[in-house]
Amino acid sequence: MRIDSITADDFKKAVSKNALVILPIGATEAHGAHLPLGTDTFQPEHIAREISERMDNVLIAPALPYGNHSSMKNVPGTISVTFDSLRSVVHDILDSLIWHGVTRILVISGHCGTSHMAAVTEACRAIVMEHDVRIMLISDYEVMRTYDPFCYDGDGHGGLAETSRMLDICPDIVNNERPRGRFVDASGMVLRDASQCMPDGVEGDTADASAVLGEEMNNYITDTVIRMIERDLK
Ligand SMILES: [Zn+2]
Repeated sequence: MRIDSITADDFKKAVSKNALVILPIGATEAHGAHLPLGTDTFQPEHIAREISERMDNVLIAPALPYGNHSSMKNVPGTISVTFDSLRSVVHDILDSLIWHGVTRILVISGHCGTSHMAAVTEACRAIVMEHDVRIMLISDYEVMRTYDPFCYDGDGHGGLAETSRMLDICPDIVNNERPRGRFVDASGMVLRDASQCMPDGVEGDTADASAVLGEEMNNYITDTVIRMIERDLK
């Protein structure tokens, strides 16, 4: 159930039965010539939906559609919030859920940049220090990289895996272009415009992307995360 689609009473009832709340954290970020700016929001939202269909008493909080960005920050369409803003808003959302009695939370982030994840991690860590609750923080992007055939270097942002997953989730907003690009290591240089590291806007070769492959990957991620929930968040 989506929290924004139920009443306060229904929310209260679910929480009184120890509901698991999933908070998807997305982004509004350039993803090449073929994928929409909301790619990193739509993917964790999809996984949250799939989990809620397969498990009892799961509530999905509205996704946060903004993240903290470096490599795509200067590319038109990317909307980046600061590290401190992201940490604060995630902390406040979690705090508010806990105020209403929630004790089990899965935070799932579609964007997986280093500073972005550090901000979200700090927020979650502060919350578990302040309250007797359980929080699991994962990135579906990272879980995806454990999917066997894709544990290789060279596929990343907007690449084969993300394109395939989006073709499964929302094919109507994936363009027909299938770009190819690579990550260029800056050798330790701190760049004013980090998009130089991804001159083609994507990392990987999207030529073989397909909805069939994407569905396999999305199912794999859902199954993996459900196993993690059953082990640590029951
Ligand atoms: Zn992405």
